[in-house]
Amino acid sequence: MTESSQTALGGNRIESGLDVHALRARFPILAKRIRDNSFVYVDNAATTQKPQSVIDVLNEYYTDQNANIHRGIHYLSEQATEAYEEARCRVARFINAPSERQVIFVRGTTEGINLVAQTFGRQRIRSGDEILISTLEHHSNIVPWQLVAEAQGAVIKVIPIDDRGVLDLEAYRALLNERTRIVALSHVSNAIGTVVPIVEMCREAHQKGIPVVVDGAQSAPHMKVDMQALDCDFFVFSGHKIFGPTGIGVLYGKDEWLRDMPPYEGGGGMIQSVTFEKTRFLEFPGRFEAGTPHIAGSIGLAAALDFVEEIGIDKIAAYEEEILHYATEQFSSIDGLRILGTAPQKAAVLSFVLDEAHPHDISTFLDQDGIAIRAGHHCAQPLMKRLGVSGTARASFSIYNTREEVDKVADSLRKIVRFFKR
Ligand code: PLP
Repeated sequence: MTESSQTALGGNRIESGLDVHALRARFPILAKRIRDNSFVYVDNAATTQKPQSVIDVLNEYYTDQNANIHRGIHYLSEQATEAYEEARCRVARFINAPSERQVIFVRGTTEGINLVAQTFGRQRIRSGDEILISTLEHHSNIVPWQLVAEAQGAVIKVIPIDDRGVLDLEAYRALLNERTRIVALSHVSNAIGTVVPIVEMCREAHQKGIPVVVDGAQSAPHMKVDMQALDCDFFVFSGHKIFGPTGIGVLYGKDEWLRDMPPYEGGGGMIQSVTFEKTRFLEFPGRFEAGTPHIAGSIGLAAALDFVEEIGIDKIAAYEEEILHYATEQFSSIDGLRILGTAPQKAAVLSFVLDEAHPHDISTFLDQDGIAIRAGHHCAQPLMKRLGVSGTARASFSIYNTREEVDKVADSLRKIVRFFKR
């Protein structure tokens, strides 16, 4: 640890009370060496690493329990079905959904938003209607709405941000009108970390009878997401960003909407009865889970949520805030480095550009030192355009990142600055 990190925040075990070194030992991949360097993984907004407990559960499932669910009347099928449905209950408790029936397993955030857009959206949106999104959105919360808008003859409206990356709430209020049929918002920006005041924004939309879809891909891993407190109409997140497996995610919806939504995909597992003339569908959640789902994924996600709850989401949030604060201090002292996204409410995402080097060069240079960051437009091209850049370099932190790692990244960045200034 450098002197600065000791004086600024006094070690890695600080106000949040998290023993980061003990925690790191639970993530086997973090012991890896990359290009003869210790591995520094700060690309957590893209995907998180997996604790041993999640890896073990996946291994056990395929070693000892594998069977298809809901259909087979045999021992393993019953066990797998039970584990899958228990995972649904686990998710419901984690997000404080009124009922586990409101938890639909999907492949991830992208599929969840597409599902809502193609069912609820198509049902609700007509020619001339407006869909309201924000400048902060990931492409996953833009493109699905564009597809619906094009199909239905509707219009996409966009809430602006200020130069810090904060949503303009006055503009939001002005944009909510009798033609607005859906509001779809990122809870936390993946590209610059802004935390959006979802409770307030839901309340204001609801006052005008407008439902709100929340992209929780970057909030669920970092803060308490309580469906009853947020009072959003739909909420979506991805398992792989919260220490769980890839290919599994969650769509939560309010009962009043799910009840009347048509199916998204047709196939096995979502029907009550089929004749060549007419198919009767299951109620939700089964109606929206056609085909064999990612059974192991749901069980792995439940194990990931156990892990998060064992640590405590509030502790996670507090630690990440400390790391963000420390990294912001360290990076700000680098000559020619400019941070993009300086909202007062921010998740542990640090997006930046260097005067001399393209983001891709930064990433390539850091990789030589065993450091994994992300560079590019972060699937948020409209936001990049608003910020006046084609892309950024992004370090995104998780509970296993230490201040020593922040120091290493900062040291490597200084090396890059020296290299390009030569
Ligand atoms: N929304 C946000 C804010 C994201 O950060 C991401 C992924 O980076 C997504 C949506 C898409 O998630 P997935 O690729 O897991 O479907």
